[in-house]
Amino acid sequence: MKETLLDKFNHIELIIKKKEENTCNAWLKSNEMPKFIYELAGYKSIREKKVTGIRIDSHEVCEGFIPSFKKRPTRKDLDSIIEYNELYDPNENHIGFSYTYSETYGSISGFDNLIDILTNNRKSFRKEDLIPELKKMKELYEPREGYLECAYCHKQRLPKDLRQATVISRMYINYKSNKRNYCKDSDCASHDQMAHEG
Ligand SMILES: [Zn+2]
Repeated sequence: MKETLLDKFNHIELIIKKKEENTCNAWLKSNEMPKFIYELAGYKSIREKKVTGIRIDSHEVCEGFIPSFKKRPTRKDLDSIIEYNELYDPNENHIGFSYTYSETYGSISGFDNLIDILTNNRKSFRKEDLIPELKKMKELYEPREGYLECAYCHKQRLPKDLRQATVISRMYINYKSNKRNYCKDSDCASHDQMAHEG
């Protein structure tokens, strides 16, 4: 039986899927499938995201998306998937995990790249890894007695480390005063003014 364009297209698509499967399986050989991804939620808590799957983030491997076709692939569709497959070489840097967690207003799902989880100090497979960072965030942002909040970066600062500045914005029109507190040792005031001019 003669192989149709569709057979050929599906065949290449299968090869691409197989490459992805092999990459994920190779990673799973030396790593356990994670159950949760932990992530800092502001300075207040550590969010627990339930892992629902592992897959390749194909957009990270190749620019553009996998060629697809409508109804029947043309010769051109086939050529484009052949070309795509030649460039398609996923490795463990392209692995990611889909996840889900509940918020008060419903359930949220998303996807995190493995590299991001391993290198971002706000994410980890182990909850205890995030505790030092959570502590640091609390020290910077949790309201404290004797401290005031910078209107731009929201860090808690001692009054002596703040200066008052006026930022002109329509957003602030209902406030009693245009004067707000900003860090003395950084450009928070001018950054805030720029943010309101944008
Ligand atoms: Zn600031």
